[in-house]
Amino acid sequence: GKDRHWIMMVRARIPGGVLTADQYLAFDRIASTLTEYGSIRITTRQTIQLHGVVKDRLKETIREINEVLITTLGGCGDQVRNITCCPAPGDEPFRAQMREDVLALVDRLGAKTHAYHEIWLDGEPVEVGPGETEEPIYGDVYLPRKFKIALAPEGDNCIDVYDNDVGLVAHVEDGHVAGYTVLVGGGMGRTASDPNTYPRLATPMAYVPREEVVDVVTAIVTVQRDFGDRSNRRFARLKYTIDRGGFDWFRGEVEQRLGRTLAPPRTLAWDSGDDHFGWHREGDGVSYLGLFIPQGRVTDTETLPLKSGLRQVVERFRPTVRLTPQQNVILSGIPDDQKAAVEQCLREAGIPLPGAWSLARKRAMACVALPTCGLAVAESERVLPEVVAQFERLFEELGIEDAGITLRMTGCPNGCARPYNANIAFVGRTLGKYDVFLGGSDVGTALNERFQEVVPLDNLVDAVRPVLEAYAKEREPGEPFGDFCRRVGLHRFRSAVQEAL
Ligand code: SF4
Repeated sequence: GKDRHWIMMVRARIPGGVLTADQYLAFDRIASTLTEYGSIRITTRQTIQLHGVVKDRLKETIREINEVLITTLGGCGDQVRNITCCPAPGDEPFRAQMREDVLALVDRLGAKTHAYHEIWLDGEPVEVGPGETEEPIYGDVYLPRKFKIALAPEGDNCIDVYDNDVGLVAHVEDGHVAGYTVLVGGGMGRTASDPNTYPRLATPMAYVPREEVVDVVTAIVTVQRDFGDRSNRRFARLKYTIDRGGFDWFRGEVEQRLGRTLAPPRTLAWDSGDDHFGWHREGDGVSYLGLFIPQGRVTDTETLPLKSGLRQVVERFRPTVRLTPQQNVILSGIPDDQKAAVEQCLREAGIPLPGAWSLARKRAMACVALPTCGLAVAESERVLPEVVAQFERLFEELGIEDAGITLRMTGCPNGCARPYNANIAFVGRTLGKYDVFLGGSDVGTALNERFQEVVPLDNLVDAVRPVLEAYAKEREPGEPFGDFCRRVGLHRFRSAVQEAL
């Protein structure tokens, strides 16, 4: 009937993106049997979205997801969303401790009610059951808007910790988490038509000992619950609450709820924003393998049978499957004596190892956008492969293919693929046209700047080329592209590019 053409999306809550082999295989099965597209989409929040869930099978789909111990609860809605955490496995105690802290935060801050599921119909959330049980933190009002939390070990910013409402940076001493520097007020979303909206990187607020971190985050969430803007959703995120009241007011409010003053934040240093590709040591005799998943879309195409290939590898070697916030996959817990067999299995299944992909491609990200995101005004996921191909050629022509330049694309200003701290970002303005942002930091610590507006898809390379040419000629040894942009200033290029377009 007609209903079968309604496109629905289900998003699961998978704290830190960790799935057992059986759970991964269940998602593979659900995608194959209960959705029209048949694909698994890994998201920037380490979750899975299933697109094209057939309406008359929705209940079945949610039941099946819940049966494999993952819940769709907390996937969406005005509450604490899927908590992200650096997905790199390892036997150092701090990794297990961060995992424990993720689960403690989920336990404290996750919505308690079991009847609350949100699903999405044509881009609009649909509540399928009323709340039943008491919500100690949310009461019956939930939060003014979604609330994002992420955990990173100091030095490794693969998760973009500054882009979250609350970022927790673990300080590791003797292999253990001593405490966290708490960052507050990050968020990417903006509205094209409203200049009062803006992306913001989180501000370091305090250092807290590990055992106090859940209480401190809870206090922050309750301040946002009580002071967040409930009259206008555009200004409902924590970043606006902090900027409206002032940072000192905000910290004071958190301290008042805790009944003590907070220690100042520690100075943070970042070595890398890389996504753990390739083989790495996980423990004694055990390794993990980071695999690149183009656009986070696990599907079978004629040239890349990713979905069936991954299924074979997971069935045979039964790794833990970790979803990364850059929309890739880590196969974890592989005995060293099986590494060669895993590689051979991947090869036979037609899945390239990360070394086969260019750095530009591995670092590129796109949001879902058309046809399944109801907010999309322009293409993103479906055009990214061709856009990246154009930039791969340009980078090679200029000899900057090893510079690690990050390129991100979104279908609207909402910023799901975290475009505003990428080196190069294309943000959809209207069908076929994009705003171009340049600068940003490859370790996530600086925002980029809008360089051009409403550039047609076919001219994106032309819009960026002069800046890349100057970078190739004038950069200092080892200088990242974003640092170069901020050092020389984009105004130098702006009008020439504008005239040329
Ligand atoms: Fe949809 Fe916009 Fe998010 Fe892309 S950035 S997934 S278009 S809301």
